[in-house]
Amino acid sequence: CGIVGYIGHREAYPIVIKGLKRLEYRGYDSAGVMIYDGDAIKLCKTKGKVVDLEERASKEITTNGTIGIGHTRWATHGVPNDVNSHPHLSNSGDLVIIHNGIIENYAPLKVELIKRGYVFHSDTDTEVLVNLIEEVQKNENIKLGKAVQIALNQVVGAYAIAVFDKKNPNEIVAARLGSPLAIGIGEGEYFIASDASPFIEYTSNAVYLEDGEMAVIRLHKKMKVRKIKDDSLVDPYIQELQM
Ligand code: GLU
Repeated sequence: CGIVGYIGHREAYPIVIKGLKRLEYRGYDSAGVMIYDGDAIKLCKTKGKVVDLEERASKEITTNGTIGIGHTRWATHGVPNDVNSHPHLSNSGDLVIIHNGIIENYAPLKVELIKRGYVFHSDTDTEVLVNLIEEVQKNENIKLGKAVQIALNQVVGAYAIAVFDKKNPNEIVAARLGSPLAIGIGEGEYFIASDASPFIEYTSNAVYLEDGEMAVIRLHKKMKVRKIKDDSLVDPYIQELQM
């Protein structure tokens, strides 16, 4: 039930792990992390606690890299186990998603995607969403932000998500409807989290996305916030956090 993301110049892994621990109060049954090392996606996830994830990651993956996302899961669709834990990959292996919330119409979307050749490894609603984004992106030949937007307009439910695309690895796309999402703005770095506690020590500038908004967070660019429904640009209110 928590989301953390980092894109910048620091090592992402310790920031993500520490952030997940700060979000532990929200409750969860599994945890996972994705680190992009400039070349490959490193994924580690497990049923259990964030300490179990750390233990496992120390054996299974190299954790160096300046882009990362992490998740604590409160299972709604699919039992708590390693496979159902987030992050989830799309079929191509290019897209990575973390999601808090519920995609209510995942079943018909899943049937349609299976017809188009998609294979599902987990029982989650979330894996449906990441493959829907992939299908939209493939058909329309568009960048991640646009694909996320089109996909979210086909979805009924509640979500806070962060999505990464290996084909265009300088950005993370975040969106929310019904679940909280804060973005910390540093110098040459951005943080994403369910609340500001994972990044308060790094920056005091935060934007809280409103329901129905999405943000394209691109390294060394001003972040763009839009309304998911009508694509209108929003001028985000940057809040000064009390340290
Ligand atoms: N519905 C998703 C799942 O069951 C996300 C649950 C959550 O909010 O952690 O995997």
